Amino acid sequence: MSLPKIVVLTGAGISAESGIRTFRASDGLWEDHAIEDVATPEGYQRNPRLVQQFYNDRRRKLFDKTIYPNAAHLALAKLEEKLGKNLLVVTQNVDNLHERAGSKNLIHMHGELLKVRCEFSGKIYPWDKDVTPYDRCHCCTPPRPLRPHIVWFGEMPLHMEEIYDALAQCDYFVAIGTSGNVYPAAGFVQEAHRYGAKTVELNLEPSNVQSAFDEAYYGNATEIVPQFFSQW
Ligand SMILES: [Zn+2]
Repeated sequence: MSLPKIVVLTGAGISAESGIRTFRASDGLWEDHAIEDVATPEGYQRNPRLVQQFYNDRRRKLFDKTIYPNAAHLALAKLEEKLGKNLLVVTQNVDNLHERAGSKNLIHMHGELLKVRCEFSGKIYPWDKDVTPYDRCHCCTPPRPLRPHIVWFGEMPLHMEEIYDALAQCDYFVAIGTSGNVYPAAGFVQEAHRYGAKTVELNLEPSNVQSAFDEAYYGNATEIVPQFFSQW
């Protein structure tokens, strides 16, 4: 029997039980900050220090001893051991919990807290400390400021071509812990469905695009995700 090709999309719901709070569409706030202030190019232009501080705080939190991958992250890493490249995890999360669990075939479509990039050339640098107003790139003359490697509202998500290629070829598309509010990710289910994939939603509660899925299971990610993937 050939191994199934699976694309998994993960969102805030998979990291919530690890203690990571992300943007909530319900009140438009992310850790008590208005989204226009900390997650838009305009907000960054208005107040780069505030925005850098915000992402410095989020980055620091990843090193907190109380933050670690949970059973849902681990289940996906374990599945990759069985399926290899047949499993692609696309995450909307900017934390590093999938990597820490052991996932390798992984796309961060909304960027990563542990990277920054040159404002001028776009060159990406690994970054595990605070960004200060004096940090500069090593790619330009004169050196330019570094910005968070985060996709803000109004910016294009990353690696879209690779993601759509995988959606066109997969047997299963599984969305875990996503609200279905943020496009283009919210449209992945229709895309996968169009190419004949079976589509599954694993979520705390029905998402906004619930009706687009063939199957759905609701509950805590740490329970329903290991349970669902135990079939392979
Ligand atoms: Zn540069």
